[in-house]
Order: sequence, then C-alpha cells, then structure tokens
Amino acid sequence: MATNRTFTMLKPDSVEKGHIGAILQMINKAGFRIVAMKLTHMTTADAKAFYAVHSERPFYGELVEYMTRGPIVAAILEKDNAVEDFRTLIGATNPADAAEGTIRKLYAASIGENAVHGSDSDENAAIEGAFHFSGREMF
Ligand code: UDP
Ligand code: MG
Repeated sequence: MATNRTFTMLKPDSVEKGHIGAILQMINKAGFRIVAMKLTHMTTADAKAFYAVHSERPFYGELVEYMTRGPIVAAILEKDNAVEDFRTLIGATNPADAAEGTIRKLYAASIGENAVHGSDSDENAAIEGAFHFSGREMF
C-alpha cells in the first residue's frame, strides 16, 4: 500500500447513532479519497487481533467488547500526508481533549467510545488496511 494512505473505522457507536453520513462527509470535505469501504462486524477474535498492541492495557477487555457489539464501517483513505492529516481531522483520543471541529469533538462520547479509529503510522495503515481488505477490494 502506498504511504499516502491511512485506515479508518467508524466505530459501533457512530453506526448506532446514525453518524456514518456526517462523518464520511467530513472525511470527503477534508480531501480524502475513499479507496476501499465496507460495513462489517468484527468477531471477538478479530478485535483482539486488531488491538493486540493494547492487550496488556487495562481497557483492552472493554475495547474488545465495544468494537464487537455492532457493525463498523472500515475504510482506506488516500490523501497527501494521509496518516497525520487524518489524525488531525479526528482529534485527540479523549474527546474532552479534542480540538473544536474534529470528528471526535463532534461525535465521540468518551475516551472509550470515541467514534473513529485512525492509523498512527504508515506501517500500521498498511497492516490495518490489509487486515480488513483484500487487494481486489481496493480502488
Ligand atoms: N481506549 C480506551 N481507554 C483509554 C485509551 C484508549 O478505552 O484510556 C480505547 C479507545 O477506543 C481508543 C483505543 O482504545 O481509540 C485505542 O487506543 P489508542 O491509544 O491507540 O488511541 P487512538 O489511536 O485510537 O487515538
Ligand atoms: Mg491508536
């Protein structure tokens, strides 16, 4: 995967609250092109593997419960400087610390239920995109 791509998930709370359209509009307006996208429901094994880096953290169990309680929208996004610019668009992990106008400031309920995922590096963007999509699903 090219390094001008990032990976996102609109998490179960965003889907439950009907925020898919509003969040995708923000993503498009910020200049990201959607390369791949689907509604999908992670299994417990999926979520444990996706978040394996956090397996020793105290919130891991809750995070896996949350991420598997309903469908998510998974997507690969393309833009110059995609990883960094998308992290700016989503805002801080804790919505209480997120800048005005960011996706998490507008749509996240708490540090746990924080509306969206954004990859933290080009390397992880490639790994996370490949976790959810085959090459034939990327455009
Ligand atoms: N999380 C949580 N409690 C915390 C930190 C993180 O429940 O104290 C959850 C939250 O959903 C977050 C995810 O775990 O988005 C991954 O954490 P990370 O530190 O990677 O934050 P992110 O990269 O998503 O901003
Ligand atoms: Mg992270």
